[in-house]
Amino acid sequence: MIIKSVNVEVFTYPSRRSVDSAGHSHPGDEKLAKMAMLRIATEEGPEGFAFGPPEVIRAHVVEAFARKVLIGQNPFDRERLWQDLVHWQRGSAGQLTDRALALIEQALWDLAGRALELPVHKLIGGYRDKVPAYGSTMCGDELKGGLATPDNYAAFAEQLVARGYRAIKLHTWMPPVSFAPDTKMDVRACAAVREAVGPDIALMLDGYHWYSRTDAFYIGRELQRLDFAWFEEPMVEDSAESYAWLAANLDIPVLGPETVAGKHYSRASWVKNASCDILRAGVAGVGGIGPCLKVAHLADAFGMDCEVHGNGAANLAVVGAIKNCRWYERGLLHPFLDYDEVPAYLNSLVDPMDTEGFVHLSQKPGLGEDINFDYIQEHRIERY
Ligand code: MG
Repeated sequence: MIIKSVNVEVFTYPSRRSVDSAGHSHPGDEKLAKMAMLRIATEEGPEGFAFGPPEVIRAHVVEAFARKVLIGQNPFDRERLWQDLVHWQRGSAGQLTDRALALIEQALWDLAGRALELPVHKLIGGYRDKVPAYGSTMCGDELKGGLATPDNYAAFAEQLVARGYRAIKLHTWMPPVSFAPDTKMDVRACAAVREAVGPDIALMLDGYHWYSRTDAFYIGRELQRLDFAWFEEPMVEDSAESYAWLAANLDIPVLGPETVAGKHYSRASWVKNASCDILRAGVAGVGGIGPCLKVAHLADAFGMDCEVHGNGAANLAVVGAIKNCRWYERGLLHPFLDYDEVPAYLNSLVDPMDTEGFVHLSQKPGLGEDINFDYIQEHRIERY
């Protein structure tokens, strides 16, 4: 099979998510948002797709790197193509990011699954067909009845449990929220949620990411008392030493790294330095499904869990393919938004959840995105 073209279609779709000055999502007025669909096509017919922000997979990235490496090649040679793209990263002056790399590699997996008529989670591992989800909240805000107070979090947690979730992860308040960051408020929200849902729901905290060691230690000890399942990214992840210090001083599992650069290579250092108890990687952050699997397998070899960061078809495929991940991250969730609403450019959700809190993996060929091609064509604003 030979790759003949690599193209991107940018289209608009209605969204009620807005982004604050620090990049956090919150509910907002409905507006048109932009999305890019990457399409890799072959001479023989099969195609693969990946969705992402247009800024990540922009025209220069497609022309200067993706086409140069992929056209004329066998799409099943994923590891070699990925390595060739990685070589281009150094000379790309920062243009070919890990996120762009991940979208290209993800589309190759989708293509392979569609060509072979198998779901990608079966191709890359095949461990399970359903997985428990944790409801991952949006960051705190100052919206009345939203996520503005510990009581708001408690009330929302009760709603999530009624929906079926058996686990909830709080993202608490970060600037530009006027009173953030505030370690005491974070702990109060966690305590209010534990009080509301009782002892049988797993809880996690992903708080402000720039706390000092002292602040992180304070919160971590409080979370231990509240029987939280893990403590995520309280400090700058560039300092693996700080995480080693925190993990050594707390009993609660410390989870990371999520945002640090370096693909699977940097995760190996975190394991060696005992900087975390549970490893973390997401497809977008580490440059693809392949490197995300490498992180998960690295963790497995050291007897560690690897919790996969983020929602979406590619992350769900990895979760379905491995044993050492307990949850799928479903979100981000907010009391003013309905996560179960299908985006206009898809015909169905990629991560449908039942009333027991299990997300069921798609058995369709590829990554399981049921794409509404008519919608995308009708709302297309750019093609390159
Ligand atoms: Mg996180």
